[in-house]
Amino acid sequence: MPTAPRPPGLPTSLRYPDVGVGSILAGAAARYRDRVAFRHRGEELTFAELWEAACRFATALAHRGVGRGDVVALHLPNCLAFPIAYYGTLLAGGTVGPTNPLLPPRALAEQLADCDARVVVTHGGVAESLREADVEIVVTVDPRDSVSLDFHQVVAAAPPTRPDVEIDPQADLAHIGYTGGTTGRSKGVLLTHRNVVANALQYACWGSGGVPSLDDSGEVTVTQIGDETEWPSRLGTGVTLNLTPWFHAMGLGGLNIGVLSGTSVTVHDRFVPRDFVADAERLRVTSLSGAPALYAALLRCEEFHTADLSSVRGLSSGAAPMPRSRGEALAARFPDAVITEGYGLTEATMGVTTNPSWRSGTRKVGTVGVPLFDTEVRIVPVGGDPERDALPPHTPGEVCVRGPQVMQGYHDRPEETAAVLDRGWLRTGDIGVVDDEGFVSIVDREKDVLLYKGYNVYPRELEELLLTVPGVASAAVVGRPAADVGELPVAFVVRSGDADALTAEAILTAVNEQVPPAKRLREAHFVDVIPVSAAGKVLKRELRDRLR
Ligand code: AMP
Repeated sequence: MPTAPRPPGLPTSLRYPDVGVGSILAGAAARYRDRVAFRHRGEELTFAELWEAACRFATALAHRGVGRGDVVALHLPNCLAFPIAYYGTLLAGGTVGPTNPLLPPRALAEQLADCDARVVVTHGGVAESLREADVEIVVTVDPRDSVSLDFHQVVAAAPPTRPDVEIDPQADLAHIGYTGGTTGRSKGVLLTHRNVVANALQYACWGSGGVPSLDDSGEVTVTQIGDETEWPSRLGTGVTLNLTPWFHAMGLGGLNIGVLSGTSVTVHDRFVPRDFVADAERLRVTSLSGAPALYAALLRCEEFHTADLSSVRGLSSGAAPMPRSRGEALAARFPDAVITEGYGLTEATMGVTTNPSWRSGTRKVGTVGVPLFDTEVRIVPVGGDPERDALPPHTPGEVCVRGPQVMQGYHDRPEETAAVLDRGWLRTGDIGVVDDEGFVSIVDREKDVLLYKGYNVYPRELEELLLTVPGVASAAVVGRPAADVGELPVAFVVRSGDADALTAEAILTAVNEQVPPAKRLREAHFVDVIPVSAAGKVLKRELRDRLR
């Protein structure tokens, strides 16, 4: 596959230091010392303070006999304790098990048992789950819980020294990350320190123009190349707001990228578009990132269009497809910013492709860009051999990925691992195409593709058309099973505020006159919101259930 041109100084391949994830923070603490790393509810942590607290937590774990190979589940919403517990666990040699803080007790118990968690750091509400899971140590950030160890006391009581732990970054696990769970059963994705360090470097260097190396003390450092005219997001100057949950691959990837590139991150508990915009203006944020659903809500918020957001130099989107019309609306709002869409999945730590973030780079709206450093993407027929059966440009097929960020496998699931990992190639389950210049477009998820009389119907294509109908604010398409023919495409539509008169018939007519008969929408239902997961993915299973 062709590789897109790079600006001067940006290598085509990176050297990945053989260090643990804790070295990302160690290097950042040395480079960005007193800069605010994270801010939440008025409290701040500088890079140096985060390093010190993480070392204390690591020592506290080590004193309790927790170390190499032990899983520490983080059952926390985004808060200042999260990065402390995250880096502390990794500095102690442990493996982080990020856990959705809103999982129902049964699912939480299953996950804790599945990853053999020895420790849980929780915000509360785990008691019921713990009756079924074999967890030894419970640490809580909830001051009302008098039974578990108090997180803040545990941190304060330990000395701020980094425990002396030997790890093998290429073999030792940094994360057991559970896949989104929007479809199928949740599986633990095994990621080594090497996977996580590599993906953070791939993004930080791609996004900010850095070249990685090791500093005198053996920690990761990234050196800036180029100037402001080429790199709108520069190392050590970024300011951003966070909403993406850190228990999810995209959030956790973003956390490491932010630390590596010295970005000051202000955490928002809830998404209130008006508050988000007000904070973005007040803090003079330099970048925004999130799932397409975040941008949809911002574009509907009046203040987003009137606030002074001239400090924003970059916007990035991922986790789900960005409709073309939304990308164009953002480009109109931020004519001078670099807007990039990227693509990834938990099985690839976080990211696989992204559009270039340097100014002179070519960006293509509607594509997810080109593969990151040292990452290969091949499109093959579903079930085909990634080594032999690569399809030519413009032919849809399964996206297969090889690179230093690809997981080791699923925890305790050899058959499921063998089904997706083949000689280093990851079968993603996504259907995509490449163009002549190597830009990848995700057509749909294989499991979401509908089959009608033997024809493939891609819901995403219909969703794009729906969004061009005046009065349609957002839309999702799923299949209604139908005897003999397969599945019939059905749309769920959110009307924009001033479009009360828009009818289902008008929508069906507007879309169906643009598609061949096999792809025609059969029904359109109005809803108040399209349900999305915490990570911003449309919950198609929930919509399918509504059709029953
Ligand atoms: P997760 O493992 O929960 O991060 O989900 C990964 C899945 O999200 C991928 O396999 C894709 O189906 C989808 N995805 C991520 N980014 C994009 C994108 N930019 N466009 C379309 N789908 C995406």
